[in-house]
Amino acid sequence: MSTETRKTLIVLSAPSGAGKTTITKRILERHPAEVMFSISATTRSQRPGERDGVDYYFVTREKFEELIRQGALIEYEEIFGNYYGTPVTEIDRANQMGKRLLFDIDVKGGISIRKRYPAQSLLIFISPPDLATLERRLRDRQTEQDETVRRRLERAGMEMAMSDQYDRVVVNDDLERAVAEVEKHIFASRD
Ligand code: ADP
Ligand code: 5GP
Repeated sequence: MSTETRKTLIVLSAPSGAGKTTITKRILERHPAEVMFSISATTRSQRPGERDGVDYYFVTREKFEELIRQGALIEYEEIFGNYYGTPVTEIDRANQMGKRLLFDIDVKGGISIRKRYPAQSLLIFISPPDLATLERRLRDRQTEQDETVRRRLERAGMEMAMSDQYDRVVVNDDLERAVAEVEKHIFASRD
């Protein structure tokens, strides 16, 4: 067995539109017995194709604020006017199943997870090849209005600047190559 602690809490962060949802889905499809997704609670509205209790727990603002008061969230942030947070129960669920837990959360949330679980956490930043590509991907996804695309791009600069606090940076140029690189980092500590 390696002397390094097994990295069971894998955080994937990226500016919105860089491709972390796409990469997360690929990893989960390929390793269902070893990796599971940490389902966040959010107050943002459901996008077409998203499922409650699978992609997110979609909750009202009142319910989210109750979760904060109860101490039911490991971390939470307000992003683009909505709350997003990680329920404590996700960690318990992964421990019970003996699986690694994959988080799709923002940079500040990732840093909070590492503060709380320093030995188990691995923080991977997914970077777009450049900002023009990021903007094109966001617009092509067609899930956001112009105004929210603009806000997501503005936030991207802040997130890119914080990427040097992450353990690994993976550029999502070619999707297959990027997924393979993320897999390599996740399973670097197998035992
Ligand atoms: P995020 O979860 O980071 O906001 P998504 O996974 O939704 O981003 O990806 C944003 C858009 O870019 C989607 O339409 C997705 O299909 C596309 N995309 C993701 N990765 C790539 C890639 N390597 N090359 C081209 N398009 C990509
Ligand atoms: P989206 O609305 O595109 O699904 O997510 C917006 C941002 O919120 C993304 O950067 C996503 O990673 C982040 N996010 C999703 N869930 C959480 C969470 O539980 N905590 C934090 N801090 N960020 C989250």
